[in-house]
Amino acid sequence: MSSLLETRAAERRRVAELLERGTARLAAAGVERPDWTARTLLADRTGQTAADLAADPAPIASEAEYRFLRDIAGRAAGVPLQYLLGRAPFYGRDFEVGPGVFIPRPETERLVEEGLKWIAASPARLEVLEIGTGSGAVAVTLALAAPEIRVTATERSAVALAFARRNAAAFGASIRFLPGEGTADLPAGSMDGVICNPPYVDWEAGGLPRELAWEPRLSLDGGLGGIAVIRGWLQAAHRVARPGGLWLSEIGEDQAQRLRLIARETGWIWEGVEPDLTGRDRVLRLRRNHG
Ligand code: GLN
Repeated sequence: MSSLLETRAAERRRVAELLERGTARLAAAGVERPDWTARTLLADRTGQTAADLAADPAPIASEAEYRFLRDIAGRAAGVPLQYLLGRAPFYGRDFEVGPGVFIPRPETERLVEEGLKWIAASPARLEVLEIGTGSGAVAVTLALAAPEIRVTATERSAVALAFARRNAAAFGASIRFLPGEGTADLPAGSMDGVICNPPYVDWEAGGLPRELAWEPRLSLDGGLGGIAVIRGWLQAAHRVARPGGLWLSEIGEDQAQRLRLIARETGWIWEGVEPDLTGRDRVLRLRRNHG
């Protein structure tokens, strides 16, 4: 009996040591929430819950310990936690992610909310296009929340497209995926709405969070001023959207005024900008003109 208690005490000490070592390494590297991150990684690598690890940990295999320490080193070097875990939460689901695909962000849930509001208020069965779907988080969420719509999604990166296809399959979402530029193959005027999260980071401006360097530049770099890519997507979307069709996209918090002009130039009518939870301009809403 006493030897069982001693074994348990030893396991708890081992966990405490590993967490201390991991936390210290992350803190020294300036990683946010070092303690929580170390616990999350150790729980994931040992297949135990954080509560079990704290109260009554099972023995930790040396392989799990090795992977934990390797991941701590990776996170300390800046690798996003989502890449280490192989998943990112979005709208209540865990999407598979990894190097080569954009990590879904919580603020993009606002885009989905606006999309779902529009879908709920529309009488007809809608054709919806997502340009640049990345992991497929937005397209899959829309398709599952509104099975009556038809979702088409494009993606230029073959790596990202493979993630999107796997995510759609894992959740049983029915989506038509188009590789490459994609929209060129769609008939003019065939879409009721275009919903997307274009790359909009002003890459040349510098001062970017170092985590961004681990994600595909294609998914983040918005070109000159952070808005050149959006201009191209608005042009492409203008061709495939029906007159009166909707455009919803995520934008950078300082881009609304410049996009007002670009929208007019590319044939879109301004409807408004919705803020995210922190009050920053985040979701742009336009209507295709009748020209
Ligand atoms: N919100 C992202 C970031 O700054 C950028 C997303 C994007 O370019 N679409 O991390």
